Amino acid sequence: MAQGAAESDAGLDGGGEERGAEEPVVSLAEVLAENEELEKEARAVLGGSDHERCSYSQGAVKRQALYACSTCTPPGEEPAGICLACSYECHGSHKLFELYTKRNFRCDCGNSKFKNLQCKLFSEKTKVNPANKYNDNFYGLYCVCKRPYPDPEDEIPDEMIQCIVCEDWFHGRHLGAVPPDSGDFHEMVCQACMDRCPFLWAYASELTVPTVTKVTPAAEDGGLLNVEETEEIKKENGADHQTRTGEEKILQNNEPSTSSGSVCSEVKNETSTCKLQELQAKRHLHLQENTATFWPHTWRSKLCTCKECMKMYSDLEVAFLTDECDTVLAYENKGTRDQETDRRDPLMDTLSNMNRVQQVELICEYNDLKTELKDYLKRFADEGTVVKREDIQQFFEEFQSRKRRRTDRMQYYCS
Ligand SMILES: [Zn+2]
Ligand SMILES: [Zn+2]
Ligand SMILES: [Zn+2]
Ligand SMILES: [Zn+2]
Ligand SMILES: [Zn+2]
Ligand SMILES: [Zn+2]
Repeated sequence: MAQGAAESDAGLDGGGEERGAEEPVVSLAEVLAENEELEKEARAVLGGSDHERCSYSQGAVKRQALYACSTCTPPGEEPAGICLACSYECHGSHKLFELYTKRNFRCDCGNSKFKNLQCKLFSEKTKVNPANKYNDNFYGLYCVCKRPYPDPEDEIPDEMIQCIVCEDWFHGRHLGAVPPDSGDFHEMVCQACMDRCPFLWAYASELTVPTVTKVTPAAEDGGLLNVEETEEIKKENGADHQTRTGEEKILQNNEPSTSSGSVCSEVKNETSTCKLQELQAKRHLHLQENTATFWPHTWRSKLCTCKECMKMYSDLEVAFLTDECDTVLAYENKGTRDQETDRRDPLMDTLSNMNRVQQVELICEYNDLKTELKDYLKRFADEGTVVKREDIQQFFEEFQSRKRRRTDRMQYYCS
């Protein structure tokens, strides 16, 4: 799953290209470009996390790739999360739920939540990590509908979007509003978290990316209608008891007498420098709705950081909102950056120094390698096990020996 918009595409069995007679025509550059995307995503998610050392000694890691093991801690048991290195070393053959990344988490591997497992990487852990937060994701269930992902019983194509506050994942259709195009927003806050952090509504009218319902008043399909209805219900239940006829709406805009009594629009906020108070003064412009909200890049930097607001964030346990480095994007960029340096693509360098025959031979070999590696990795995907370094090593050793046998048998395997 990817940040912002996760689609169920990335998979080892994707692609499915044919192995025909014209295969060598596919340029190496094309083959590489095709894999680049998948590779980039993997690098982004895993790049910022340590592959070899359990992250426990770092304490609660600001953000890391995280897994839950349904072999060790199945639904019904206490939920537990394990770091990337532990997923390889201590749970290699287990059934794991990939939790993508989570913030402020300390690896649980082998602590009191595990009945029959000792951590091979860092066994001196305390019994529990009291500051860790858990949700149904640790049992492989997501969204308000509590379904697995991918969901074998769900035939509706829908993207999963992660709430940046609770870090659960939600179906686009279960957010109370039709999400904007994934490219148009950067982060999402789910309905429940908006309820828990009502101050965000004050920023919403200034900052959020409008959802489809707000732009199109006349609902045409069923989905939109439902949203309109829920909005109506919420408003009827709300303190203002407003009905949603056009006229009254206009009236309400002209006579902002319902809320705190503050004077509208051109409020030159007296002495206060609190952005939130300023916004709250004109809050009637944006009524609280029963929907998730969608926020653009750098919106976090617009949140007030006065003393009172900072205290409120910390009381609500959302102090991370003022930290741009908390975003998944910042984490992914770090992962990509860290690895870019030792990834100058030696293949491309070598290729440009080769003659045509050498190039074709290399392409053939690469295609063989690619197909075989894909088949090999697919077995792991089918079994739901994690690929370990030794597995990859073993593959290359076997591939080398197969190649030797092949070239012994026939001089020109594929040209
Ligand atoms: Zn660990
Ligand atoms: Zn396990
Ligand atoms: Zn471990
Ligand atoms: Zn759902
Ligand atoms: Zn949430
Ligand atoms: Zn403030």
